[in-house]
Amino acid sequence: AKNAGRDTLRFYDPQMQAAVSARAALELDMRIGLAQGQFELYYQPQIDRGRITGAEALLRWRHPRDGFVSPAHFIPLAEETGLILPLGEWVLQAACAQLARWARHADLAGLGLAVNVSPRQFHQAGFVAQVLAALASSGAQGPQLKLELTEGLLLQDVEDTIEKMGQLKGYGVGFSLDDFGTGYSSLAYLKRLPLDQLKIDQSFVRDVLTDPNDAAIARTVVALGTSLGLRVIAEGVETEAQREFLERHNCHAWQGYLFSPPVPVAEFEALVRKTNGV
Ligand code: C2E
Ligand code: CA
Ligand code: CA
Ligand code: CA
Repeated sequence: AKNAGRDTLRFYDPQMQAAVSARAALELDMRIGLAQGQFELYYQPQIDRGRITGAEALLRWRHPRDGFVSPAHFIPLAEETGLILPLGEWVLQAACAQLARWARHADLAGLGLAVNVSPRQFHQAGFVAQVLAALASSGAQGPQLKLELTEGLLLQDVEDTIEKMGQLKGYGVGFSLDDFGTGYSSLAYLKRLPLDQLKIDQSFVRDVLTDPNDAAIARTVVALGTSLGLRVIAEGVETEAQREFLERHNCHAWQGYLFSPPVPVAEFEALVRKTNGV
């Protein structure tokens, strides 16, 4: 019987088997991690004319055995398995709690906080109620909260998207279109959606000085956004020359390693006090 058991394993591709159990292990680890408080938010400053106007909240997972695990690794799996629903709700609650703490300090009160929302999270029934509950239970103000959506998400179910964005806009919540230019947004939809901001994807910023196509795209996104009455922010700004190019072409704001990587909240607050003065 023992041998027979071993023989049946031959029917499995060992590599595939290993991949499946690694995914299952990662999913279980994420569930445990969420229950045990292993997730936290880091904050990357967003700069407008030399001042920090807010931050993008980026999820970090400190795994007790593997150390820091990148969101690029666990977000796609969380999206697939549905764990993004409790995880995304935790992010919203943590972000709103942080906004409410900032509101109690004069020098931090005006900060905005951008939160990434994944498609499955946004399109679930009750998403609007979830955001409103996070605002209400923390005491955070709607206008300080900015949700970052991706093009794919917006196009998945346009009527649902417009309805939900409209409801949240009624509470002052802002919307930014992340990774702009990498997907398939039609300009007709852009006009119908109550967006506040376009975000130039870092893949265009990277070679903006050396690749004329990327430079043209960056300039076009700024012109398009501006003519639609939207703010435009660039992400992934790493050099002074990139920042200078974007500024020269009237991009409104930027974020990137040139100013700061995403950092823990205490470090972010210190940067705000140093940069914005008192
Ligand atoms: P994203 O929303 O496009 O975030 C920007 C990514 O670029 C972040 O990676 C950030 O740390 C990184 N970055 C910032 N400045 C620079 C720079 O100057 N140069 C370069 N090369 N990279 C820079 P991170 O933190 O690893 O996050 C990766 C992705 O994971 C995010 O991409 C977002 O799609 C997702 N993510 C992170 N946190 C959350 C979350 O709370 N919810 C959801 N749904 N997704 C999240
Ligand atoms: Ca983002
Ligand atoms: Ca992005
Ligand atoms: Ca991206």
